[in-house]
Amino acid sequence: MTKSARKSRRPPPKGYDEVKPTLDAFAERIEELSGVSSEETTWKMFQLLHQRSRYIYEMYYRKHAISKELYDWLLKARLGDPLLIAKWKKQGYENLCCLRCIDTGSIGGKTTCICRVPKGSMTATDDDVKTIRCRPCGCRGCASGD
Ligand SMILES: [Zn+2]
Ligand SMILES: [Zn+2]
Repeated sequence: MTKSARKSRRPPPKGYDEVKPTLDAFAERIEELSGVSSEETTWKMFQLLHQRSRYIYEMYYRKHAISKELYDWLLKARLGDPLLIAKWKKQGYENLCCLRCIDTGSIGGKTTCICRVPKGSMTATDDDVKTIRCRPCGCRGCASGD
């Protein structure tokens, strides 16, 4: 059982056993990264948390493979980020990497993070595009249509 699952008071609803192996694998990789502090690790950590939220989102909203009860339970157990998932439901934010990339306050006055700019509308050269990573989470581009 994962740390976060242990913390929640209610026992997991039916269906949890089916998502558990995937969530446990995520928990393991996240645990491995915690304790190491470098920019690269922070990005990797971000990606894992993102993928885990994404997994829950897809299981519920796309594949309809888990119940509302289980979905709510997973979010309560902090296995997915409800704010991020709320964004994915909006048009234009389907691939959003993290909330910090649209929080204009945290990226030094810029209106949108570089990763939110569709590649097609970039004026940068190909080489620039390849090396683009946003500071908060190391995303290489998450605009819809990329
Ligand atoms: Zn991004
Ligand atoms: Zn981001």
